[in-house]
Amino acid sequence: MEILDGKKVANEIKAEIAAEVDLMKARGEKVPHLAAILVGTDGASLTYVGSKVRSCQRIGFESTLVQMPNTTSEIELLKKIEELNENDDIDGFIVQLPLPPQIDEQKVLLAVNPDKDVDGFHPMNFGKMALDMSTFIPATPFGILELLDRYKVDTQGKHTVVIGRSHIVGRPMSILMGRKGFPGNSTVTLTHSRTKNISQITTQADIIISALGVPGFLKAEMVKDDVVIIDVGITRVPDETRERGYYITGDVDFENVSKKASYITPVPGGVGPMTIAMLLKNTLLARERHRARS
Ligand code: NAP
Repeated sequence: MEILDGKKVANEIKAEIAAEVDLMKARGEKVPHLAAILVGTDGASLTYVGSKVRSCQRIGFESTLVQMPNTTSEIELLKKIEELNENDDIDGFIVQLPLPPQIDEQKVLLAVNPDKDVDGFHPMNFGKMALDMSTFIPATPFGILELLDRYKVDTQGKHTVVIGRSHIVGRPMSILMGRKGFPGNSTVTLTHSRTKNISQITTQADIIISALGVPGFLKAEMVKDDVVIIDVGITRVPDETRERGYYITGDVDFENVSKKASYITPVPGGVGPMTIAMLLKNTLLARERHRARS
């Protein structure tokens, strides 16, 4: 069994991007600038946005954090998005999800200029991804592809089972694993909460990508020997014995499933760090495209 070490690979990618930024600076060029909009004070969202901003600073990007109160109206948020769309200094930006209930998420995703949509959530970018056109691939699926690529995990002709069909992970992942190319060329089964006899399907899988957010969901008896396991799940489990009051866990019973797996991602230290690294990669791409347009 080999650990797919997302932390290590993410650090390699960040070092590659930092070297690119140094070259940009040496050439007297503008460095990439990422902005993030955070609405409200959700603890997990604050942590995610905080680490995105810190990562930008470490690799030499400019970053801007726009914090808006929980009571922000849809109109106020759309106005802020328009400002970022028009701000020529900003190459890409994200709107951290989830949003408070008074705001329609779909309207927000549609309002982001696709050229600055480094999360790859805009329908235009999602459509391009589905059609194998060059675009921004959502950071988590992009990170999983990169991890499979760097560890040279064979995906061709394999049966990949994706658990979860969200727009940000499961759905794009199922499309990408089935595309022509590497990583890809898999035969994909997309499963969700209405799937019957899910164990019957997962025991036939060569590769399982689990993105449902249920701790310990995937158990050893649900997988076959030598399976490749990508655990996307991140759940905060309350634990008063820990200083921060919780611990982080994935969807997979790591202790037992790892004994049967050929490759497996840990949680934390697997897909999570890759997501941030690929957001930075998308921002670098946004800067390059921005420069080519101007
Ligand atoms: P989501 O929008 O809540 O979607 C969960 C999906 O799982 C849904 O499609 C749901 O089915 C399915 N599901 C729920 N219970 C199920 C069950 N018992 N059996 C089979 N399928 C089931 O979740 P998400 O945003 O994709 O996130 C999933 C997990 O990944 C969460 O823990 C999240 O924190 C984590 N995450 C991690 C990263 C990272 O960087 N590592 C990034 C994003 C998300 P229905 O469609 O039928 O409801």
